[in-house]
Amino acid sequence: MALKNLEDGRAIQGLLAAKTVRSAVILGMGYIALEMCEALRARGLAVDLIKPGPVFLPWLHPDLAAVVKQELEANQAGVHLGRQLQRIESTEKKELRVLSDGPVLKCELALVATGVTPNSRLAERAGLQLGPQKSSHVDKTLLTSCPDIYAAGDCADAVHVVTGRDVWIPLALRANRAGWAVADNVTGRPVELPGVAGTAVFKVFDLQVARTGLNVAEAQEAGFDAVETVIQSRSRAHAHPGASTIHVQMVADRRTGKLMGAQMVGREGVAHRINAPAVALHAGMTVADFIQCDLAYAPPFSPVWDPLLTAANQLIKAL
Ligand SMILES: Cc1cc2nc3c(=O)[nH]c(=O)nc-3n(C[C@H](O)[C@H](O)[C@H](O)COP(=O)(O)OP(=O)(O)OC[C@H]3O[C@@H](n4cnc5c(N)ncnc54)[C@H](O)[C@@H]3O)c2cc1C
Repeated sequence: MALKNLEDGRAIQGLLAAKTVRSAVILGMGYIALEMCEALRARGLAVDLIKPGPVFLPWLHPDLAAVVKQELEANQAGVHLGRQLQRIESTEKKELRVLSDGPVLKCELALVATGVTPNSRLAERAGLQLGPQKSSHVDKTLLTSCPDIYAAGDCADAVHVVTGRDVWIPLALRANRAGWAVADNVTGRPVELPGVAGTAVFKVFDLQVARTGLNVAEAQEAGFDAVETVIQSRSRAHAHPGASTIHVQMVADRRTGKLMGAQMVGREGVAHRINAPAVALHAGMTVADFIQCDLAYAPPFSPVWDPLLTAANQLIKAL
């Protein structure tokens, strides 16, 4: 089964309700695959995840990715990296066999969560200019290369606020905002959208995983002199019970001192905290500017020095 929209989700729910499904193999290890892994484990299914690439969450700093992988394994999910998938066979016992160059994975449900591509065939066939991954290219007013056609949502590209380059990052806020902006523009209220920072968050069992902006490889590829730091801090003040570790990675450009991106993994205090560096990226702040930001503190929510400020204080030493 594929998992692309709400109907797919309902179909999976229906299948789980109608049959006794005890095991699943998920093809893919992106955020949707990981969220489904959690959902299926919560229903008591045995779950294996499999993908051809050798690196788990390759966009995430390896130290942070290791924490997420550990969380999956602690929840008895099988993580099979670097496996070239061959085919899926169904047996006479109505079992599925997922064949790869590794051990055969048997299951009753195989879920395909291998990513999405822009639904831009219409734009391509109409001869419109295409952007990254063949998305429909739009300007800041959401106009395509044809002056009578706008495009909004996962089918279209956007400008990245850090690099100024066109990117294709299919996420809900941009899609929604672009839809509103098109409505404004066609009804005579001109709007321009500055772009996206690629801010994203997801949950894997008890972990929150978040990112905004560029990682080191992306920053280097975009021509920046990228430098990064990785720190561990706490989600609450040291004397407050229930604190857990927050892992923070932060990237800056040596030439300008500008913040390029941040990533975080932790059990609490990650999901909304990522919005602070996201705003800093939109504002084009340097790490020095960010360090001076007046971030909130109270013992149940943060150490006096927020984990983001601790990371920025380390990062500035490397600039
Ligand atoms: C399982 C899953 C989980 C996700 N979780 C998150 C999340 O936590 N956070 C986040 O930011 N994003 C998330 N996303 C991404 C988010 O859902 C998309 O970015 C967002 O829905 C894109 O909106 P859209 O309107 O461009 O496309 P869609 O929501 O896909 O809507 C497109 C609509 O166009 C219709 N359509 C397609 N072709 C045609 C045609 N030729 N004619 C007429 N109608 C057509 C489709 O039927 C559909 O109704 C998730 C996506 C998936 C699949």
